[in-house]
Amino acid sequence: MPLFEYKCPSCGKTTLLDPLGECANILKSGQKCGFRFPLVAGSGNSKVREKMEKHTTPQSGLMTSDYSWIDDKASYPLYQIDAAKSGSLHLDQKMNYLFLWQTPVGENHFAKIIYANDCSVSGVSGVVLPLNSKLQNMHIHFSNYESHFVEIAPQSDQIIIQEPNAAHPLEYWVLSGQEPIFFLFPSSQLSGVPPSPSV
Ligand SMILES: [Zn+2]
Repeated sequence: MPLFEYKCPSCGKTTLLDPLGECANILKSGQKCGFRFPLVAGSGNSKVREKMEKHTTPQSGLMTSDYSWIDDKASYPLYQIDAAKSGSLHLDQKMNYLFLWQTPVGENHFAKIIYANDCSVSGVSGVVLPLNSKLQNMHIHFSNYESHFVEIAPQSDQIIIQEPNAAHPLEYWVLSGQEPIFFLFPSSQLSGVPPSPSV
C-alpha cells in the first residue's frame, strides 16, 4: 500500500499517511492529530466534495475538456479509497504528473467519459488519482488507459510518495526502500531515472 508523505492540513506538519489510517503526529495538547485521507470515513473538504459532485453528474454536449463520471454517487468514495490503497504508480507523460491507477472491474467499463474534441461518449475502465495536489484536495477521475501513461511501480511495490518538501522543494519523489526511485519536477521537465521493470 502506498504511503503519502505530505503536509497534513490539520496539524500543519509533514505526515506519513496510510490511506486507511490517521495522521499520527502528536499535537501540543498531547492528542493525536487524526487527519484521514479525503473521503475515508466521510471526511473531505468542500473542494473534494465539489469534485465528487462533478464526477458523479452526467454531462453531454460541448465540453472544454474531457469530463468523466460515474452514475452512482455512493461509489465515488469507495473507488477513491481503493485507488489510494491499491493503485499502481503511473506517470502521465502528456500532463506530466504522477498518479495512482486502478481498474476496479478489470477491462469492464464502470464509468463514462465525454471527450472534448468530438463530444463522443465512451465507457471507461480505470480510476486515476493524481498525486500533484495537496493532501486534503486529493480526488479521483476516470479514464481509459492512454498511450501516454507509463507504469513506474507496480501495485505490489511498497512505495512512499513524497510531495515537494524542504529537502527537494521542486520535485515529487517516490521512495522504494531508502532510495528515491523516481522524481519529477512539477512544471515540465522530467528528472531522474525511471526504475527498471524489475525494481
Ligand atoms: Zn496531522
